[in-house]
Amino acid sequence: MAISIKITKTSQSRIELYDFEQVQFGNVFSDHMFVADYIDGEWTNIEVLPFQHLSLSPSTFALHYGQAIFEGMKAFKNNKGEAQLFRPLENHKRLNISAKRMGMIEVPEELFMTGLKTLIDVDRDWIPTKQGSALYIRPFMFATDNFVGVRPAKHFKFIIFTCPVNAYYPKPIKVVVEQHYVRAFDGGVGFAKAAGNYGISMLPTLEANQKGFDQIIWTDGREHKYIEESGTMNVFFVIGDTVVTPNLDGTILAGITRDSCIALLKQKGYKVEERKISVDEIIDAHKNGHLKDAFGAGTAAIIAKIASFNYEGTDYALPPAEERVVSNWLYQTLYGIQTSTVPDNFGWIDLV
Ligand SMILES: *Cc1c(COP(=O)(O)O)cnc(C)c1O
Repeated sequence: MAISIKITKTSQSRIELYDFEQVQFGNVFSDHMFVADYIDGEWTNIEVLPFQHLSLSPSTFALHYGQAIFEGMKAFKNNKGEAQLFRPLENHKRLNISAKRMGMIEVPEELFMTGLKTLIDVDRDWIPTKQGSALYIRPFMFATDNFVGVRPAKHFKFIIFTCPVNAYYPKPIKVVVEQHYVRAFDGGVGFAKAAGNYGISMLPTLEANQKGFDQIIWTDGREHKYIEESGTMNVFFVIGDTVVTPNLDGTILAGITRDSCIALLKQKGYKVEERKISVDEIIDAHKNGHLKDAFGAGTAAIIAKIASFNYEGTDYALPPAEERVVSNWLYQTLYGIQTSTVPDNFGWIDLV
């Protein structure tokens, strides 16, 4: 299938309205978006057009029953000024893993990649170049049936839009180990990037924020004993010389940043373990002075150092940010590969 995309460019670019160095994460949108509809068994209305509102019926299926999934990825400029993507095929694969679990249609690779690259090409001037910045890309899909009966939807809209962004968490974050709410459970949708996974996390996050924490560390749904992930990021700990991260058991989102960190750490000669990690183990390591580093890993922040974690009312502080060998090295290396100041030995970069 050769995809042909209708391109309609804006007559009035908004790019001059913004100072890229000042933009907040996710509220400035580039000039264009990519849209495709799945109607009556085929992909149609495949277009790049000016970023604009959608017109939807109040009966739009996704608004009622939550058949909605998304991805998060970034484009960067390298030192030659070329636009490049980081492991975009992994986002495509994961979108379809999410689609499958949510009973939605899968997006063909060519539609995803051609739409993505066409959009990034049209809006390449929106990729910021300041240290730490990037063009955040949001592919997403939702059910568009105009129908409030309950059965899996048949019609879907796939959209990609982008936002110029700066560094996500400028300073190390304070997290709290969740002891009441649950994000995901065995047999559920924790491994999917489903909108509802975020919906159910809003109240717990609000409550954590009100207590002065930036993020939650989710624990397992049965005993609240094992660490799962931190808010919108996978989580890593450095205990002695070993880097540990929870194994992917179906309740944890398989982060592309997580996977990249593991590959880089192993290549560098670190011992990396993917396994169950109990809260008790982390507290013991802290008490014994073996807990050297703790950080979240995800596309938005890349690496977010954890300043302290709170468990049952006690705060456990991590070493100062400057002393974090692993998280500092990983951030420099990953962002360096993404912007081509560090060699890409894994073939992760895809030029646009
Ligand atoms: C997206 C996401 C991550 C990070 O995935 P990346 O591919 O590294 O951006 C981690 N946890 C959750 C719950 C997520 O939704």
